[in-house]
Amino acid sequence: MSASLVAVLGVGLVDPAAPILRADDLGATRGDGCFEGCRIRTDQDGASTVDKLDAHLARMARSAAGLGLPFDARAWRELVELACRSWTTTPGEAALKLVLTRGVDDQATGYLTVTPISEDYARLRRDGLRIVTLSRGLTSDAFTDAPWLLGGIKSLSYAVNMAALREVERRGVDDALFLSTDGRVLESPTGSVIWASGRTLTTTPAEGTGILGGTTQARLFEQAAGAGWTVGTQLIGLDQLHAAEAVWLTSSVRGPVEVVEIDGRPRARRPELDVEIRRLSGF
Ligand code: PLP
Repeated sequence: MSASLVAVLGVGLVDPAAPILRADDLGATRGDGCFEGCRIRTDQDGASTVDKLDAHLARMARSAAGLGLPFDARAWRELVELACRSWTTTPGEAALKLVLTRGVDDQATGYLTVTPISEDYARLRRDGLRIVTLSRGLTSDAFTDAPWLLGGIKSLSYAVNMAALREVERRGVDDALFLSTDGRVLESPTGSVIWASGRTLTTTPAEGTGILGGTTQARLFEQAAGAGWTVGTQLIGLDQLHAAEAVWLTSSVRGPVEVVEIDGRPRARRPELDVEIRRLSGF
């Protein structure tokens, strides 16, 4: 879906159809840069707000620092505020993307886009996700002491993640779960994985695995801990995931979506848990 609103750092709103990158921008030629994907909500009066903006700006600052790129948090916040003031037409949800590329000659390029939410999300939130496991081709400790692998950085180099989603489509399912070569559960191409057993919520540890620490997962765990859940991280194998009472993939725009099938093996749904997890996540 094409973006409905585009704003450029240092410029402001631009025509969404107008080109804003040079052909030799290193973001385009090397995938050298970082981004954030956020959820915008617009109320009946046309007032738009970004969910957990502070967490997104903090993660983008960490991504930029990891890539050695400049990040002016105040300028980004002002650009987001401009986008929110300008996004008044559609009550409901939309996706906000913040993009920072290495640009050309040490002149980084920053811009944001606002795009209506995918029509598929309502169906997936209702029906749950049928997923397949795919090898990520790396051991679960591949990122230990290897900062150049950019573990935990939301870099623009998502070609592997997008290829995994094409494989998902080829197999006729909804999403994927990456496994390490030693059989550990990592994350999905665009989301975190969380699972519940009793009143305990668990996710994959970021250290060593290189997964992206999810802002949706972090907010959920914070809220869940306040509501009496035990929360934590664990490296587990697929058998342990199958044994969990409920499993979700979580991401900022789609929210938490319950997994209803893994590699063709159906999972019993837990509607009451699903409602609670969605509520605690702000959905
Ligand atoms: N892991 C990957 C690889 C992602 O692309 C995303 C989504 O952006 C996430 C996890 C979940 O992050 P968040 O909940 O902050 O959207």
